[in-house]
Amino acid sequence: MLLFDIDLTLLYTGGVGRFAFNNAFKKVFGIDEVWGNTNPQGKTDRLIFDEIALRVLNRKLREKEYRNLLEIYVRDFKRMIKIKTLGDFRLMPGIPKLLQTLVKSDRFILGLATGNVEEVAWAKLGRENLARYFRFGGFGSDSGERPKIVKTAIRRGRKLLRKRIPPERIFMVGDAFQDIDAARKTGIRSIAVATGKLDLNQLKEFNPDFILPDLSDSERFLSIVR
Ligand SMILES: [Mg+2]
Repeated sequence: MLLFDIDLTLLYTGGVGRFAFNNAFKKVFGIDEVWGNTNPQGKTDRLIFDEIALRVLNRKLREKEYRNLLEIYVRDFKRMIKIKTLGDFRLMPGIPKLLQTLVKSDRFILGLATGNVEEVAWAKLGRENLARYFRFGGFGSDSGERPKIVKTAIRRGRKLLRKRIPPERIFMVGDAFQDIDAARKTGIRSIAVATGKLDLNQLKEFNPDFILPDLSDSERFLSIVR
C-alpha cells in the first residue's frame, strides 16, 4: 500500500489555497489578506485555519465559525482551482509517469494521506486528472493531526483490500518532516522526497526510511517499494 501526500509531493497549486483562505476570512470576518507569511508546509487545513485565527483574531475559532469558513473555503477553492490563469500550478517531476507505472504494475494500491480536507484534495488532483490513480485516502477532514490522518488512510486501504497488509509493506511518500513523523508514529515506512521546502540533507535529519530527490526515477522508486 502506497500513501501519497499531495502538496509539493505530487503537485503545487501555486497559491490557490492562499486565495481561498483569504477569501473565506474576508467573507466571515471582513478581514483582508489574512494569509500573511503563513507557512502551510506539512500542516493540515484545520491547523492552518487555527493558526490564522489566532494571529488575526487573537483567539480560537468557535466550531460554528470554523464550519462557516470551511464551507466558503471549499466552495471557492473548487471554483478557483479550475481557473488556469490563477496561481502557478504545476506537477512535481515524474508525475504522472510514476503513478501510471505503479497502477499499471498492478502490485500496489495507491491512496492519499493529506492535510487537505477531502473535497479540496480531490479538486487539486482533478485539475490534471490525477484522481483516477487513487482509490482511497485519509484527509484533513478526518482529523487535524497527521498521524490520525495516516491511520485513517491505512484503515480504509485495508478495508478496500479486505486483508491485513503488514506495516512494513505500507509506505508514506511525502515532502515534509510531518509526513516522516506521521509514518513513524503509525509504524509504517517513509519515503521522503526533496521537492518541498526541505532539501535532501535537511530531510535526512528526520531519519526517513528512504530519501529521493524527486519522483522522476520510477525504477528507483519501484526498487524501494517492491
Ligand atoms: Mg506536502
